Amino acid sequence: MSRFINKKYASLEAYTPGEQPRERKYIKLNTNESPYPPSDGVIKAVNEAEVSLLNLYPDPTCKALKEKLAALYGVKGENIFVSNGSDDILNFSFMAFCNDSDRLVKFPEISYGFYKVYAELYGVKYSAIPLREDFTVDITDYFGNNANVVIANPNAPTGIALTVEEIEQILKANPDFVVLIDEAYVDFGAESCLPLVDKYDNLLVVRTYSKSRSMAGARLGFAIGSAELIADLEKIKFSTNPYNINRLTLVAGEAAVDDDGYYVENCKKVADTREYTTKKLKELGFECTPSKSNFIFAKSNKIGGEELYLKLKERGILVRHFSNGKICEYNRITVGTPEQMDALIAEIASITEETK
Ligand code: PMP
Repeated sequence: MSRFINKKYASLEAYTPGEQPRERKYIKLNTNESPYPPSDGVIKAVNEAEVSLLNLYPDPTCKALKEKLAALYGVKGENIFVSNGSDDILNFSFMAFCNDSDRLVKFPEISYGFYKVYAELYGVKYSAIPLREDFTVDITDYFGNNANVVIANPNAPTGIALTVEEIEQILKANPDFVVLIDEAYVDFGAESCLPLVDKYDNLLVVRTYSKSRSMAGARLGFAIGSAELIADLEKIKFSTNPYNINRLTLVAGEAAVDDDGYYVENCKKVADTREYTTKKLKELGFECTPSKSNFIFAKSNKIGGEELYLKLKERGILVRHFSNGKICEYNRITVGTPEQMDALIAEIASITEETK
């Protein structure tokens, strides 16, 4: 740290992203990327002609992409915000809707680690609410109309989802606060609360291209909400970095909407592979949460979480381990292709056999 840093950031604990190793080729099951490539349309869209336009700024309003997303989700362009990954949208939302006095924020204690980082970055008072013993969210903890609410649905790293009815109860119980539902993983089998956007002007639904749309490397996310909430996010974007989505990502994002069917099929494949892998893990003595996402949250009855993570890494398979006490015996395993999951199962069977 330099001696010049603003005092308010001196003790800030930054988010630690999952490993992105370059030194060795791993079966990479640690950051919930799609194992499938982008669609042919996306690959063709990022072509020489587009690259040769990189001397020009991209459209800061992202009009064409917004129109395509609006048509896909049955809303208007004014209900869509697009940004540089959904992390960017979370960041803008904390900036726009929370403050340090009457706009505090509640989120589950075990959830996406960035919520706490943003709250601390902006000096927002937050309440990180424990999950129930079985890792489910108790929605009544979020009633009270006294704080903004941020919930990942399905939650991460548990994969457990709330129903739309449960989310509606949270919305009804907080009419004067923003309820942000982070649907990064919704396409893999949970119910989206997008149909509620028309009814509740305090609902912001945040989505990403990084998981179900195989574009983690392109950095694209979008949010759907009332025109007023979206206008607030636009104000923040235009006050920080108006060109925050590059030209190539914009054309790739548009092509991905055109090829939506391809991604829907991939999500089905991932959900089938998740169920298959979960069954195999249970046969090997694992406890797995009922995941509706593209990852499995699993604890072995034979080997500790960290030891398993390290042994798998030695053998060329990367999974995600969190050192947080309550979940340190678990690993979060991204669902890959059936072949990758067979390789994982084989290694786990051999590791657990050795540790008997
Ligand atoms: N929300 C959740 C729950 C996530 O797990 C992630 C991925 N790490 C994100 C948001 C951010 O994804 P991205 O910025 O790639 O869109």
